[in-house]
Amino acid sequence: MPTSHQHRHDVVVVGARAAGSATALLLARMGHDVAVLERAQFPSDTLSTHSVSRSGVVQLSRWGLIDQVLASGAPAVRQVTFHVGGESVTRQVKQHAGVDLLVAPRRRVLDAIVADAAQAAGADIRFGITVTGLRHDDGRVVGVTARDSAGAALELDSRFVVGADGLRSRVARSVGAAIDVAGHSHGATHYAYYVGPAWHGHEFFVADGTFAGVFPTNDGEACIWVCSPTDHADRIRRSAASLDGAFDDMLAAAAPELAGRLRWASRTSPVRGARHLPNQVRQAFGPGWALVGDAGYHRDAITGHGISDAFRDAELLAVALDGALRGELYEIAALAGYQRQRNEAIREIFGITCGLADFPPVAEFVALQKRLSRAIEAEAAALAARPVPGRRQLAVA
Ligand SMILES: Cc1cc2nc3c(=O)[nH]c(=O)nc-3n(C[C@H](O)[C@H](O)[C@H](O)COP(=O)(O)OP(=O)(O)OC[C@H]3O[C@@H](n4cnc5c(N)ncnc54)[C@H](O)[C@@H]3O)c2cc1C
Repeated sequence: MPTSHQHRHDVVVVGARAAGSATALLLARMGHDVAVLERAQFPSDTLSTHSVSRSGVVQLSRWGLIDQVLASGAPAVRQVTFHVGGESVTRQVKQHAGVDLLVAPRRRVLDAIVADAAQAAGADIRFGITVTGLRHDDGRVVGVTARDSAGAALELDSRFVVGADGLRSRVARSVGAAIDVAGHSHGATHYAYYVGPAWHGHEFFVADGTFAGVFPTNDGEACIWVCSPTDHADRIRRSAASLDGAFDDMLAAAAPELAGRLRWASRTSPVRGARHLPNQVRQAFGPGWALVGDAGYHRDAITGHGISDAFRDAELLAVALDGALRGELYEIAALAGYQRQRNEAIREIFGITCGLADFPPVAEFVALQKRLSRAIEAEAAALAARPVPGRRQLAVA
């Protein structure tokens, strides 16, 4: 028999990575009773490279977490180099929106830092718990059913359930959240970790039909990645003996100079990859529920912006839920406001992402990268100008 908790949480969040832990952190700091259910155990990695763009760094800085991220050994990235057609242009990361660095911490590091901060703020985070369904009353979501790693069933009651459970969100499927915007899904990203040479900040290699790069990360390693259309990656995969061999071939074709440098490096991980990455925007809320992060908005990895999207939307949602929970706003007005703000915030970069994932000719690809960079700078400035939710509790901690 499921054990039903008599206690009714303000919010149950499903998923404890970028979107879920950030939402819980801010809600807890604003004084709400939040439970987070995560089926994985932390610390653990997930299928993702992990460059945090300036807007994501602004969020980590505003929430008081950037020092911990840097203390983990994730290097402060202060220069970015673009290699195009045999020419290289290096730019220093300037001070803007209150930050002067980029960073690419391993997900096992970043997600644990945000989850620990949420726990320290009072959120009840439970790992090894899989949400199996939603509970309804009179058309409204009123909680979740779940099971622990030993198979024991449990139920939690809440005023709101937040689906921060990623692309294949069970919450989104259970409520039948509509996909409001659907782009194509032909992009693929493959990556692996290397140790050996000195890394010189982020590097990007643009070639016809491919985009590759270097993100220096924890433990002296770098994440080396290649984005391409899925059919291109599949062709190379079919002609190679293994995924590792295919990655070598992808890299040699996309960035021969980098592949040459890596001959003196050791690969420290298996190659991982994702194919047919969707570009889609889902309906973000309904009676008693809301979606945040990849569960609500997924884009190709080519812009490396998913973590930053999750951090931005976590704050938009937490502030909306705070208004509803305090009775300052009608629930529908609060959540419709969240959806509107999210959709406005994503519009430009979503369009650029779809454009880049089409792999236009190199000159057009570079022009889109320049637009992306300006859009991220504008987003970072807008986030930096917002009041920090739960700032008082942050000051006390
Ligand atoms: C190959 C690749 C490369 C990428 N590179 C970058 C990059 O460089 N920079 C960047 O910013 N973004 C990148 N992204 C995107 C980024 O990984 C995502 O946008 C980000 O992880 C979204 O965070 P999230 O919290 O919404 O979802 P997720 O990270 O997917 O987390 C969802 C969590 O929910 C949990 N969960 C799911 N279902 C249940 C359930 N039923 N019960 C309990 N728990 C559940 C999962 O265990 C998981 O921990 C990349 C993505 C891919 C695929």
